[in-house]
Amino acid sequence: MSQDISTQLIHHAYVPPAGYEAVPPGVFKGSTVLFPNAATVRERAKAFGHRDGYSYGLYGTPTTYTLEQRLCTLEGGRHCLLCPSGQAAIATVNIGLLSSGDEVLLPTNVYGPSLRHARTTLSQLGITYQCYDPMDVADLQAKLSGRTKLVWVEAPGSITMEFPDLRTLVATAKSAGAIVALDNTWGAGIAFAPFEMSVDISVHALTKYPSGGADVLMGSIITNDDKLHDKFRVAYLDLGMGVGANDAELVLRGLASIKARYDLHDATARALASWLAGQDGISRVLHPALESCPGHEHWATHCSAAAGLFSVLIDESRTHAQVDAFCDRLQLFGIGLSWGGPMSLVMPYDMQSIRGGKQSYGGHLLRFSIGLESVEDLREDLAQALSEALAAA
Ligand SMILES: *Cc1c(COP(=O)(O)O)cnc(C)c1O
Repeated sequence: MSQDISTQLIHHAYVPPAGYEAVPPGVFKGSTVLFPNAATVRERAKAFGHRDGYSYGLYGTPTTYTLEQRLCTLEGGRHCLLCPSGQAAIATVNIGLLSSGDEVLLPTNVYGPSLRHARTTLSQLGITYQCYDPMDVADLQAKLSGRTKLVWVEAPGSITMEFPDLRTLVATAKSAGAIVALDNTWGAGIAFAPFEMSVDISVHALTKYPSGGADVLMGSIITNDDKLHDKFRVAYLDLGMGVGANDAELVLRGLASIKARYDLHDATARALASWLAGQDGISRVLHPALESCPGHEHWATHCSAAAGLFSVLIDESRTHAQVDAFCDRLQLFGIGLSWGGPMSLVMPYDMQSIRGGKQSYGGHLLRFSIGLESVEDLREDLAQALSEALAAA
């Protein structure tokens, strides 16, 4: 009996020959994964997350397993889960670990949406939070209690750029029995080895340097601890986390060049930060590799590189309108959030609103994310905007 064209196209008999070897790994899609026979169905139910079989698209594909393994290699960890954004990875760690009555500690310079998550969703679940000063180990020590289940660390703060004494913060939190999670987005597995700092968990916004393209959102949760990984897997499944194959492909493609890109972002950012430090109207440059940055000495003992990120404080004598005019005059710097992509970016921040009014810097803060453009072109652009917009009155 001849079949209808729809049936023929869906059940087509052609199978391409095996043995196609290309440099990029294949991109595998599918919600449904076909089982070879009914008996396999019963076996596969046990296999989720162990990377020895497939049962459903959300539970892992050859593409996501490959990306997870490469990220484990990048960060020196054993288990990895991929989430649809860095923020989703942060939330999955919190929800997987914390229950009503627990407390989580966050640094005062924590990634903003992470603080909002503590204030809103975690509070609704009966989980409390406190913020500690990452530059004061005694403050962390004082805030640790029998209820502290989890301590987040971040190095450096991604707007104000202070680099904490990471090893001592981690040791202090762990000696009080807390689990320590690092937001490793800045270090990216390149500036330092996260698990050599003794953290239990490394969360990474792959949106930034691993992708490198400013074209995908993704996050990862990496740990060496089997029990922690199991907890995150449960939260991950319950929340329906999971990433699309095309997005995973973009990150796999970016990952191959992450070291070369990171080093170039670093070199260009350091050159521009040092140059800006000597310019009229700039009162301070906050780049962890420069001595003018709080915690520079900790950066020097912990890191072998720095990302393409730094902030400057514009002298208080300049008006908001002048600072805005400076941003608007820049031709090569887009005004926008995020970092790690090819295009340089600038963002003005209101210091009062990001630190609950407890900031210690005066002046206007601008954060730069340095892209992959030529350092001379970027310097020239900064110079023209400085002289046009920020010259002293
Ligand atoms: C961007 C970022 C995140 C969140 O990543 P998204 O993919 O944008 O959700 C988390 N932490 C830090 C430090 C970041 O810079």
